[in-house]
Amino acid sequence: AIDKGIDAIVAVDVPANWAEAGDTAAEAATGNEFVDKLLVPMNKLEGDKLPVSAFADYADGTFPSGTAAYEKRGIAIDVPEWQMDTCIQCNQCAFVCPHAAIRPVLMTEEEAAKAPATLPSKPAIGAKGLMFSMSISPLDCTGCGNCAQVCPAPKAKALVMKPLDTQLDKAAAWEYSQKEVAPKANPLNKKTMKGIQFEQPLLEFSGACAGCGETPYAKLVTQLVGDRMMIANATGCTSIWGASAPSMPYTKNCKGHGPSWANSLFEDNAEYGLGMFLGVKQSRERVEDMVKAMLEGELPEDLKAALTDWLEHVNDSEGTRERAEALTAVLEKYKDNCDKCAALYDEKQFFVKRSHWIFGGDGWAYDIGYGGL
Ligand code: SF4
Ligand code: SF4
Repeated sequence: AIDKGIDAIVAVDVPANWAEAGDTAAEAATGNEFVDKLLVPMNKLEGDKLPVSAFADYADGTFPSGTAAYEKRGIAIDVPEWQMDTCIQCNQCAFVCPHAAIRPVLMTEEEAAKAPATLPSKPAIGAKGLMFSMSISPLDCTGCGNCAQVCPAPKAKALVMKPLDTQLDKAAAWEYSQKEVAPKANPLNKKTMKGIQFEQPLLEFSGACAGCGETPYAKLVTQLVGDRMMIANATGCTSIWGASAPSMPYTKNCKGHGPSWANSLFEDNAEYGLGMFLGVKQSRERVEDMVKAMLEGELPEDLKAALTDWLEHVNDSEGTRERAEALTAVLEKYKDNCDKCAALYDEKQFFVKRSHWIFGGDGWAYDIGYGGL
């Protein structure tokens, strides 16, 4: 095999103009301090030139989320092009994408009319009055082809893989679809395969390999409960694509809610996640006691109703965000003239029931970390 390989070697000339190749123009500052100060130099392999003082704001070990979105790596050879006419709006392509680089978009007719020509749309099935488009980020796609492969459009594939340079004009359409189109209430049942893809993925553009088999599942969990998720992560693939410094693919929605994530060691993740769960449980029980004590006294009707509703459903996942927001709003009304209201208001981070997860690979889960489970 080695001899055959040697026989097969051919010379490839280096293009002459490489001799004069210069640096690309410096990219404009993003306005995100972390990105401009740390992410950009680290991605240029200039992290060792950063002074220790540059990390002063992150000395407790936390890094901001949502920074993978700034990398725009453009590593695909081919990326999918959406064929609107044959698309049946099943959302399976978005479901399987490991990098959340293809997403269904729902637009009002006005938003659709203002959209770039590279973001065509047609009436949405199951969402009356809205227009449907499938938006693709050519600079975040890794070119795995999973979306095109899974597409079940009966007449002809509604996704066709094409060279990256022919699709770069879709980058502006992607930006429009993600930044200018207003988030919509999900018109479908989010517990269906099609419906869940209208929820924002809170894991996007990770450094996972093209075609990664586990990120679509992690992404799916973030679409279901990501706005209140707390993740303990073993060391392994999930920690490498989950937080490869300097970028963080876990992100947040327009309200600033998203998964919190941390990694300890390889073998202790069950205990690590259990510790997080017990810590939050203890804190929420303390808040429950505060609520019970308040309910023993005389209270305005709206405050009493919000406290009672919260307490009765304290450990129910469904509707926890809405109950937490209702309680926060009513406490805001009274906190300036009521010490107990102000003290409870200060604990509002515990109003939402968190969704605890422990992520790890087979080595951790079957073997070394199993004792902890
Ligand atoms: S080719 Fe792969 S990474 Fe690109 S959009 Fe399709 S599934 Fe996502
Ligand atoms: S998988 Fe194909 S048919 Fe289904 S939404 Fe995506 S492009 Fe359209």
